[in-house]
Amino acid sequence: METATGPSLDPIAKRVVTRENLSTLAAFCDQKATAVSFGFGCVTTPDSAHREEVIATKRLVQEVIASSAPESAPPARLAKDLEEIVAVAATIRLHPSRLRLVFACGEQDVWQEFDLPSTKRLSFLRVGRRFDLAPLMLALQSVAPYCVTILESGKARAFIVRGTEIQEVSSRLVIEEQSFQADDPRVGWSRHISKGLVEHEKAYFKNLSHQLLQLMSEQQATGLVIGCHEDLWGEVEPQFVHLAKSMMGRFHLPHFDAEPAEVLRLATPISTEAQRTRITAVLCEINEAPSRGAFGVKDVLEALLSGRVQKLVLGRPPEQTIAECKACGHMMAVAGHSCTSCGHAGVWYIAAEEGLIRQALLTDAEILMVEADTATGFSGAAALLRY
Ligand SMILES: [Zn+2]
Repeated sequence: METATGPSLDPIAKRVVTRENLSTLAAFCDQKATAVSFGFGCVTTPDSAHREEVIATKRLVQEVIASSAPESAPPARLAKDLEEIVAVAATIRLHPSRLRLVFACGEQDVWQEFDLPSTKRLSFLRVGRRFDLAPLMLALQSVAPYCVTILESGKARAFIVRGTEIQEVSSRLVIEEQSFQADDPRVGWSRHISKGLVEHEKAYFKNLSHQLLQLMSEQQATGLVIGCHEDLWGEVEPQFVHLAKSMMGRFHLPHFDAEPAEVLRLATPISTEAQRTRITAVLCEINEAPSRGAFGVKDVLEALLSGRVQKLVLGRPPEQTIAECKACGHMMAVAGHSCTSCGHAGVWYIAAEEGLIRQALLTDAEILMVEADTATGFSGAAALLRY
């Protein structure tokens, strides 16, 4: 059993990011601008001879120090946080294909460390008043759990997938293998089977569908991928009707005893495509009901500030910023000299995507991150409004 080792403040990196973690990170502000956001992810085991992750992290630390305080050393607590982040980088090799994220502020005794499955290479280190949440939101989207089930006549296996990780969970399902007589030559998915067996099999798949629904709810799975023979699907589909809304797609199952890695390889493109389809569907919904939609950073921010956003679709709004009041933190899409909420004269400028994510987290809006290749032609911000 692997154990995560980390700095003394919070020795265990969390494997799950809760809603509460996100709200806390979104609300955080350090007026001294010593909040550190760090992420390092690799998709294979780093080359042990070169300690790539430590070298890269040290370089990031040097760059941050050089750009934030070129003439003087960083404040002691910030320097300590940066030192500890290099120590975290040294443990990354123990967890290949993992993404390590740290949000730290020694000034306010905050150290939040997450250890998630990694789906792509990533490395960043930033220091500022707020935590940088876009990389975390992208990572969470790519590792959102979904369920895979593979089926054969009277048999099923189930898996939970998180990004590049797959875990078989069949033992948690009370799946009884159907008790066909093993020596009955009629038994088999492609052969003629008697009416009694057909009824038995129907009942089996119906029961299975309820258990899958239960499993998905327990695991907060976003959808279901099914692997089976084409000619079995005709029998299964009518029993799975109430799972139709969760269905992400199907693949042809080469053999029931497939290794989990093989199941993952077959399910991944289906889940990627389902994610893309879902984002496209939300963008269509926004397009088709203009009264329930907002487009562009300014309109989306205004809708978020009034708590009306149900779903935020966010790409990388190029070069756009949002003004944030230095005194009360109120965000404004149109830059003015003073805060429209408290009247304070003085604003910071923050990256639009960070401001929108933060406001969405604080108002319980669902966030759909659009990666460059996900929705053609969309790079900004759009929102589906609650009313
Ligand atoms: Zn203000």
